[in-house]
Amino acid sequence: MPAVKEFTTSQKPTWCPGCGNFGMWEALKRALSELGWEKHEFAVVWGIGCHGNGADFLDVKGMHALHGRAIPPATALRLTRPDLHVIVEMGDGDGYGIGLGHFVHALRRNPGITLIGHNNQIYGLTTGQASPTTDHLMPTVSTPSGVLEQPVNPIGLAIAEGATFVARGFAGDVAHLAMLFKQALEHKGLALVDVFQPCVTWNHVNTFQWFRERAYKLEEREWDTSDRDAAFELSMTTFHELTCTPETCRVPIGVFYRREGVPAYEDGVPAASEPGWKCAEQPRDVSSIAATLG
Ligand code: SF4
Repeated sequence: MPAVKEFTTSQKPTWCPGCGNFGMWEALKRALSELGWEKHEFAVVWGIGCHGNGADFLDVKGMHALHGRAIPPATALRLTRPDLHVIVEMGDGDGYGIGLGHFVHALRRNPGITLIGHNNQIYGLTTGQASPTTDHLMPTVSTPSGVLEQPVNPIGLAIAEGATFVARGFAGDVAHLAMLFKQALEHKGLALVDVFQPCVTWNHVNTFQWFRERAYKLEEREWDTSDRDAAFELSMTTFHELTCTPETCRVPIGVFYRREGVPAYEDGVPAASEPGWKCAEQPRDVSSIAATLG
């Protein structure tokens, strides 16, 4: 069983000091270590963004995909290697913006992959433009008069599209986040953990303090995670207004909804029951093909 420190590469993280990515990095390493999986039993696919630089800092097998395109190769990996636990690390501009189509279709397919959303509500890597989850009316570099659109709601989308494990975490509570990651990783089918990951450089509204003053844990309220209607209604609770005070807006974190026993996408794909890599273990007679080539 790899220890936490064995998931750390020799590369020094380049994230800004205090960035929420540090907490997520730590929580994932802790979850993987506590699950006791050997390194050959899982793989991670990163999208593009500050979070994606984690590909250099987490010592695991995996790949750094194109912007918004981490989910398709992760799904393909799961189909060809259904014995692997496959994790996607994606950003809000990445997974909920340019990759939103892949996100929605993955939700309705239910492949056995774990999606971890680094939701800092801003484009950090490209220096502070509004992202799909930036608060309504919040001024940013690209929207100096404030964002006119309502933010994308990853939790509500996931529940509406049939996801079977939907949770929200906070990068400032590493122990709680590691617990959510472990549950998500053990879930059969697609699991989403959307994580508030403060960007200390470009988002001066949704800070660590902002979340600490508003977040509460669902499991401390005897929340029924099997009640899909209640989970969807809760997901629609708005706290994306600049007028949101700690008294008027509370931010639930924890498992919103989970449903066990739903077949995963790969269960219905005949080829997944006899993966190509297993076939490849058998020597194949290619002499007839070679003969046609002279
Ligand atoms: Fe983190 Fe923001 Fe710095 Fe990117 S720009 S590393 S998200 S603090």
